[in-house]
Amino acid sequence: MSMAKGARSPLTVVVIYPDLLGTYGDGGNGLVLARRAKWRGLDVSLVQAPSDRPVPRGDIYCIGGGEDGPQVRAASTLIADGTLTRAVEDGAVILGVCAGFQLLGREFPDAADRPHDGLGLLDVTTRKGTDLRAVGELVATVEPDAPRDPDGSALPALTGFENHGGVTTIGPGASPLARVITGVGNGGGDGTEGAWSGRVIGTYLHGPVLARNVALADLLLGWALVSRGERLPLVWLEDGEENALRAERLAMAGTVKLSARLRHVPRPRR
Ligand code: GLN
Repeated sequence: MSMAKGARSPLTVVVIYPDLLGTYGDGGNGLVLARRAKWRGLDVSLVQAPSDRPVPRGDIYCIGGGEDGPQVRAASTLIADGTLTRAVEDGAVILGVCAGFQLLGREFPDAADRPHDGLGLLDVTTRKGTDLRAVGELVATVEPDAPRDPDGSALPALTGFENHGGVTTIGPGASPLARVITGVGNGGGDGTEGAWSGRVIGTYLHGPVLARNVALADLLLGWALVSRGERLPLVWLEDGEENALRAERLAMAGTVKLSARLRHVPRPRR
């Protein structure tokens, strides 16, 4: 069936390489975006993009966390594909989580600490940390100059969990997303968590992050719609379950803070 002349294409949310970057359930970010768009009456398409096919054009791309080997394959395949770089130039939104965050940057290490090229869409660089892996609940307050709600209010504190060995430093071309309250985050000693530049956001928060932080999901939807010359419809979503989850996890993180041992576990020796 052909589309009526002048009809808009659906808002397209693409989950990048679930076969390589599906370890931490971050594909749920795509689901959250698609559901929240649909609940507001938008025509939306959720696309799973496997690593053996060209990356499709989309309005929002979600890149999840993964293990070191698949992360290297994902980065080199995405660089060769080229679609993400062109899409960002055209105003697409990207959310990268953990391995997805690191591969959006300039360089990241593999398990043997060899450096690999990232996509260079965020001015961040990741190195191997100490022999402690950052594992546990992560809470961070959004930086004052980080992206805000369309009404100008700051996003509420971000909650999620982290599980990474990499330490990420932010260059002058990107800005920190948030400041760590509980947990490790970027880990470079400056207390920052995640980074952003334009419509590209990277974070260490799993959860999935958009299930625990629906305000961030709505911010990404708003950006994608502005790129299309549209606006996020003013439909109030009840979010009772999401807010209960946030409250429970934030309380849990308060408990974890008392026991730092729970946040760091030694990296297994190879
Ligand atoms: N392999 C990366 C690291 O340990 C990313 C891990 C992840 O995606 N959770 O730093």
